[in-house]
Amino acid sequence: MKFSILSKGDKKSNDIRSKIKNYLTEFDLDYDEDEPDLSISVGGDGTLLEAFHTYSHRLDKTAFIGIHTGHLGFYADWMPDELEKLIIEIARTPFQVVEYPLLEVTIWPQDEGEEDRYLALNECTIKTSEGSVVFDVEIKGEHFETFRGDGLCVSTPSGSTAYNKALGGAIIHPSLESIQIAEMASINNRVFRTIGSPLILPSHHTCLLKPIYDRSFLITMDHITRTYKDVKSIQCQVAQQKVRFARFRPFPFWKRVHDSFVADDRE
Ligand code: NAP
Ligand code: MN
Repeated sequence: MKFSILSKGDKKSNDIRSKIKNYLTEFDLDYDEDEPDLSISVGGDGTLLEAFHTYSHRLDKTAFIGIHTGHLGFYADWMPDELEKLIIEIARTPFQVVEYPLLEVTIWPQDEGEEDRYLALNECTIKTSEGSVVFDVEIKGEHFETFRGDGLCVSTPSGSTAYNKALGGAIIHPSLESIQIAEMASINNRVFRTIGSPLILPSHHTCLLKPIYDRSFLITMDHITRTYKDVKSIQCQVAQQKVRFARFRPFPFWKRVHDSFVADDRE
């Protein structure tokens, strides 16, 4: 089995990285940053998001696991004091995996140029630095509303506890193949109207955003931000691909939600 390790870069994470690398190499596992079967991240959820985007072109071959060093650890749910146990589990391959749905984002330019396609583990947000965003929102090919406001956030089920949660979106179990659209400060008055509630779409529905004015947009996919000018449309849907997390012990989603947001009483 081949593995790679991504560290957040602080001393504690780097020390853990060296320790895992040494132990796993002693167990005859190969370190391979290009084609790992298992990507181990050490830091926090941000580090795991980075690992995900590093290997998003080979999600059928690379599984993920994360150790948190003083960060929230929603995805990165192993603690440094469990390291020995985790190393032994990894060395005892093969491992089980759990699969979570992802978001696919396609951005078409106004000219005849090629579209850009991305996968997101948490969410895509569409904002602007030029006033408010104004776009027509189509759901499953039908006009739904004209949105004016700070922006929209389209999240995956496992990303529903991240940015989406701060916007008043619901927390969705990852067994529900869906995406959630949450508003960021929509303008609502006699003239302008949006639904005002988060929407949850099933896997066979798409959401298409068509900008009305030529503005430049700030489009984020997880921790990555891109600036786009001359956008014709942005499409969001549940991706065909899934992310695979290596699972060495049961840690159910609702327990993870409880420990991250209510109280951590794992002792
Ligand atoms: P960050 O600013 O460090 O992330 C914000 C917080 O979100 C961190 O505590 C992070 O955990 C946590 N987080 C990430 N994914 C999560 C998930 N699926 N469920 C629960 N918490 C989660 O930036 P980052 O670490 O690069 O992460 C990027 C993410 O930040 C974006 O995908 C977006 O979801 C989130 N974000 C949130 C807001 C907001 O809530 N207002 C604004 C912008 C971005 P760690 O400390 O373990 O990294
Ligand atoms: Mn972070």
